[in-house]
Amino acid sequence: MQARHFIDGDWCESGQWSESLDPANAETIGQFADGGLREAQAAVDAAARAFAEPQWSQNPRLRQQVLLEWAAALKSRQEDLAILLTRENGKALAQSRGEIGGAISEILYYAGLARHIPGHVLEVAPGEFSTMLREPAGVAALIIPWNAPAVLLVRALAPALAAGCTCVIKPAPQTALFNAAFLEPLLQLPLLPRGAVNLFAETGHVGAAHLVASPAVDVLSFTGSTATGTRIMQDAAPTMKKLSLELGGKSCCVVLEDADITAVALKLAAAATIISGQQCTAARRVLVHVSRLAEMKQALAAALGEIRLGHGLEAATQMGPLIDWHSRDLVGQRIAEAMGSCDEVLLAGGQPDGPLGAGAFLSPTLIAHRDSGAFFCQEEIFGPLLVLEAFEDDAEAIARANHSDFGLSASVWTHDGARAMRLARALRNGTVWINDHNKLFAEAETGGYRKSGLGRLHGYDALMDFTELKHVYQNVGTL
Ligand code: NAD
Repeated sequence: MQARHFIDGDWCESGQWSESLDPANAETIGQFADGGLREAQAAVDAAARAFAEPQWSQNPRLRQQVLLEWAAALKSRQEDLAILLTRENGKALAQSRGEIGGAISEILYYAGLARHIPGHVLEVAPGEFSTMLREPAGVAALIIPWNAPAVLLVRALAPALAAGCTCVIKPAPQTALFNAAFLEPLLQLPLLPRGAVNLFAETGHVGAAHLVASPAVDVLSFTGSTATGTRIMQDAAPTMKKLSLELGGKSCCVVLEDADITAVALKLAAAATIISGQQCTAARRVLVHVSRLAEMKQALAAALGEIRLGHGLEAATQMGPLIDWHSRDLVGQRIAEAMGSCDEVLLAGGQPDGPLGAGAFLSPTLIAHRDSGAFFCQEEIFGPLLVLEAFEDDAEAIARANHSDFGLSASVWTHDGARAMRLARALRNGTVWINDHNKLFAEAETGGYRKSGLGRLHGYDALMDFTELKHVYQNVGTL
């Protein structure tokens, strides 16, 4: 299997190729064209030329039709794409199927919204009109991570296209084959104007850095770590481009004294090990009322201990490998340090032996700790580590949960609806789930408070990240 760049309406190569490996067994899946600055520059130029033509930026019905045709083409290849996603990313096939289905549904959602981007008109004085036009922002550059490469691509690309932007996409090298295969049915649509969507991959960062610094890029949408997001904000400052930054998280799950501990523990174990703990919203810290701490220790250790590791294509697998060996080693090191300094190790995970030994696997770890200032309560460790803490009352639960630089997501678990709502209001996060975790929808905006980012993706508000508001004034007088 080979994946090439797609720039200005043509598939192209850059002379250099890199390999994509299956992280579950180190088998080679294929090669992707490995570009850099030259491809980034050509892609931005092509997108800028395409944006200058009104046939795309001022044609919402065409944009809707393109999105609808892309969604229809994806539907006919859904299973093949899910298998490729599992092979390249490692996640369990059921998770890949869910992600592809969700991504297609999100394309359909934005296809509808493409035809509903209203501005407004005011008569500010007799015969004097202020027309507020919502216009596409221009060239949008999208830097997409590997952990959910279908849904995280679509939640930026679909609103950008619906709004009338032209785009340059830079996927993560770990999932370059999947992203090319997922985009191919869009890129080959006869209705899509040349240069409206461009794609290049690279193993380095020079192409991505060009997207950030280029004055020809009007919007930069980045999903990735807070460290890289901070760097991007600094490097983008001279151009004053619009930024959409979806960054790291450290989700707290607050479990009140009336919760059904056994049932909640099963859900939290799944929420902590989704994509092997490599999801920004994954459960990281469980805060439980002190009266239920002992029960929760036992139930969570049992639930996490029973998670079945394996190749994502095997039916029994609940958790696949991490994205690659480098990541496994970094995450494994931080988890080992956490186990060495926490109050109590309840389940010690690590690298499995035997047939899984060649893959980038790490089994789940559960620890308990009192000091929420510990590095493993504060730092985003992007893998299967869960920390258990106890609280005495709601005020302590809120203080502990808000003791974080992040503010992406949290959950509250109780049968007391009013109390759950009061806690949800007090938690400084972009998303709070009540009696669930990791529920994400095309229709519902997600984004971060504090160091978890800027702006919102999904939902109607995501369109706003890819638009500008223009005031056109005209004095037509009165009769
Ligand atoms: P990362 O920050 O290491 O890398 C992301 C991308 O940034 C890569 O493709 C890389 O090429 C690019 N990059 C690196 N340096 C750059 C630079 N100087 N300028 C421009 N681009 C540059 O993130 P990752 O490890 O790939 O992804 C995991 C992170 O993503 C986690 O922190 C996770 O929480 C976050 N994430 C957030 C969300 C969200 O919705 N908030 C969703 C998924 C993942």
